[in-house]
Amino acid sequence: MTVGLGRIWGWFTVLGVAAWTLVGLAWGAVSPPGPSGKPRSGTDAGSLYRSAQARYRALQAHPGRYDRRSWERLAAQFRTIYYRYPAHAVADDAVYMEAEVYHRLYRMEGRDEDWQRAVDRYKFLVTEYPHSPWGPTALLRVADLYRAKARPEWASYVTECPRLFSADRCEKVPEYRHLRTQARASPARPTDSGPDRTVLQNIRYWTSPRYTRIVLELSGAAPYRTGVLRNPDRLYIDLDQTVLSGGLPDRRWDLPAHAHLQRIRVGQYLPDTARVVLDFDRIKQHRIFVLESPYRIVIDILQRPWEPAGSVQAEARPGTAETPPPDRTEDAAGVREVPVPEANRSGTYSIARQLGMKVARIMLDPGHGGHDPGAIGVGGLKEKDVTLAIARRLREAILRRWNVEVLMTRDDDRFVPLEERTAMANSQGVDLFISIHANASRDGRLHGVETYYLHWARDPHAMEVAARENAVSTAKLHELRKFVHLILQSTRVEESRDLAEYIQRHLVRSVRSRYPTRDLGVKSAPFYVLMGAQMPAVLVETAFLTHEREGRWLADPAFQERVVEGLLQGLAAYLEAQGSLALIVRPSET
Ligand SMILES: [Zn+2]
Repeated sequence: MTVGLGRIWGWFTVLGVAAWTLVGLAWGAVSPPGPSGKPRSGTDAGSLYRSAQARYRALQAHPGRYDRRSWERLAAQFRTIYYRYPAHAVADDAVYMEAEVYHRLYRMEGRDEDWQRAVDRYKFLVTEYPHSPWGPTALLRVADLYRAKARPEWASYVTECPRLFSADRCEKVPEYRHLRTQARASPARPTDSGPDRTVLQNIRYWTSPRYTRIVLELSGAAPYRTGVLRNPDRLYIDLDQTVLSGGLPDRRWDLPAHAHLQRIRVGQYLPDTARVVLDFDRIKQHRIFVLESPYRIVIDILQRPWEPAGSVQAEARPGTAETPPPDRTEDAAGVREVPVPEANRSGTYSIARQLGMKVARIMLDPGHGGHDPGAIGVGGLKEKDVTLAIARRLREAILRRWNVEVLMTRDDDRFVPLEERTAMANSQGVDLFISIHANASRDGRLHGVETYYLHWARDPHAMEVAARENAVSTAKLHELRKFVHLILQSTRVEESRDLAEYIQRHLVRSVRSRYPTRDLGVKSAPFYVLMGAQMPAVLVETAFLTHEREGRWLADPAFQERVVEGLLQGLAAYLEAQGSLALIVRPSET
């Protein structure tokens, strides 16, 4: 195989220029697709397409007056059509034609960027418009473009054609037989993992009737596209330049009957594109975001039905994350109940308050655990032990006084991934989420109490704290920005900030009654563990393990009790303001 590859590379180097010329000759001239038997309704997309077609023919008719910019403008013209009208009958033709334009530019000038764009658009056509009559041709064009670059996966693009479409449809492409003969003689394997390949290593999920979180674990960053297909409803995620790890090919997970998602399937959709498909009875609202180190793609499926922004067949764009439609459900809830609750600190009533939200279930999240010790303090004290001790004490204190359920993300020394903690809270219908931590800093003098809610960080210290708690670099955290903003659209930011304010105020007061701590205030930062939480959620940094005095306090049960008392008072104040404290206080406490 090494010999074979070497030969192909050699051939390409020597006859490089001839190679693209041959590609061009082999395929002949392109004519713009005419009517392919599909209804062409809608004047805008139709007329845009016709004018682009006319332009294409005009440029083709005068090859002597070749001008790169005219062709680039034409590509943009085709692109506008399917961006604006992704579900129109000419959308797939427009994608195909854009690919053809770049293919042509590549043949003329041999530029790598044109080659890449042509490959991307052909693949986009195959994956986003699976029923397009241009599918088999586009697939085989990718094969040919790969072959021109001696990319070993080219042969798989040919041999996969009958599986993706049908043998009949592949046979109709004139070049198919010739390519097939050559592909069969090629030694390349379909899942050849080259150095630039990402591996989809594992899929984890948590599900309940109200919420499902699916996490795709990858060996590195991968460009991805998402889209929705109807009848039956499916959400798919295509991972480019990605192959499946050994145990995954063609696996499926049938979810329990109560889940609001039927199954998860995974397959090597194209030789270098892995596809994850979520099957729905009826598609639900969803959001997709990325977490780093290790790279993982998180898909949250929410209870609400999904409403596309207009009629869309495939709403994804190459290389972009999806933006969910705005939340409509909450608009409908206009009922205000008695007792009229206190206004949020910003002076407005949040929807949750208008509904008189009751708190029945609280989740405590002791930070870190297992192989992740968290921060290490003076004298070797581990954050994971401090957080568990405080959480257990707090659970006891809450259960003694209030008639609520208290859940813990862990109750022993075990590792729980950050995204799993949020998933637990969401799928178990938790009403409040409190993540407990101990702070650390390279500056041993830094000390005090601070409470966080999810938002973009306003100061570098907050960013550093989040980076440490997320176990990523601050640089990686900055890449998260767009996802944080996406998630904030459907997160209880105001409620969380209020909860943080109450907790911070009472925590500082309680600790200060015996220990001279500093009030570092309420802050916001992009903590993974808070991302996507459906309930008011905060993260408390109780004291600094790296500060000599505070580090000693944290090991002291008396100090831990002051922290617990402060957290409890803060929670009580929040619940009081929200109008639900009276409902949960145990009779002995009244
Ligand atoms: Zn921590």
